[in-house]
Amino acid sequence: MNVVTTCIPHNRPLLGREELDAVTEVLRTGQLAQGTHVEQFQRTVAAYIGITGGVAVNSGTVALELALLALGVSSGDEVIVPSYVCPAPWLAVTRVGAKPRIVDIEPGSYNIDPEAVQKAMTGRTRAVIAPHLFGLPADLTRLQAVDVPLIEDCAQTLGATERSRPVGTVGRVTVCSFYATKLLCAGEGGMVLSNDPSILERVRLLRQYDETPSLNHAASNHKMSDLHAAVGLSQLRHLSAFLERRAWIAAEYNRALAEKDVAIPVVPPGRTHVYYRYVVQLPESGPTVGMMYSRLERQGIQCRKPVFRPLHRYLESGGCPASDAADQRALSIPIYPAMTDDEVARVIHVLNEELK
Ligand SMILES: *Cc1c(COP(=O)(O)O)cnc(C)c1O
Repeated sequence: MNVVTTCIPHNRPLLGREELDAVTEVLRTGQLAQGTHVEQFQRTVAAYIGITGGVAVNSGTVALELALLALGVSSGDEVIVPSYVCPAPWLAVTRVGAKPRIVDIEPGSYNIDPEAVQKAMTGRTRAVIAPHLFGLPADLTRLQAVDVPLIEDCAQTLGATERSRPVGTVGRVTVCSFYATKLLCAGEGGMVLSNDPSILERVRLLRQYDETPSLNHAASNHKMSDLHAAVGLSQLRHLSAFLERRAWIAAEYNRALAEKDVAIPVVPPGRTHVYYRYVVQLPESGPTVGMMYSRLERQGIQCRKPVFRPLHRYLESGGCPASDAADQRALSIPIYPAMTDDEVARVIHVLNEELK
């Protein structure tokens, strides 16, 4: 008999011999800080996405901040961000002295609502940050029509497409995060990518304080280390296999939940999903997210609210009903390549018991 003794965590990275060897090799060379591995990581990520170049930094949040600075965003400017996202985009906008204009999401896709973006545009709007949430591209076609630079936030979505275009290839600037739980993990890290060499050069000058043409008070130390880049490079070699595994698990969940009274992830026509998260929305009549979370936890399945708290809630403002609905009803279920077939089966078994 299978006795449930361990909890299935909400996430865990899949690391192996290759990552160990890569890190050991860096340690052996004694060149730990930003060096050849970072350079190779920049080239390989840019090639994977299909952009000319990238500049690696130490987090996705810093990547957003430097992207805004490179676009010339500063105090008095406005930048449009969605409410339903972690605080990183809000922080980046605030840190460059600009004002975040918070807009709602599309109800089904959890992504920024292009119509709300158009309505929020003013004479001061300088950029739009569009995070592709949970593995699903935002509506790039409609966001492209907006009259200011688009920053694609690919922290949760790499390898997905919108009308056959890979995410990250449409905006003026693209940012990534390589935090430990992301699709492509390096432990910590981020990247700014663009086809515009002048943007990349500006980010390069902000990333470090030394060996620059002049003293720049906006520059700091935002460098990534070769140790992190070595992990990222190893993970990148597995990314396609990782995404295949995620797609397989998502298909199993879709099948198991098809007859249940929950909304499974939506994939609008023309877009593909890479399932960084598998997020279901519970019906309004049943148990709350909090109750369901505790029930599943008792059965050894760790779930999460996919966004801890929407931005407009932190700021105690309203006007984002779709974000509120997601906040109250969305639940993120474990999905990651390190899950075994048995673990997937166990999640399905428990969901079958707990969901009507
Ligand atoms: C994780 C994340 C970030 C921030 O990345 P860090 O590396 O944690 O700073 C930004 N945007 C989105 C959508 C994220 O998921």
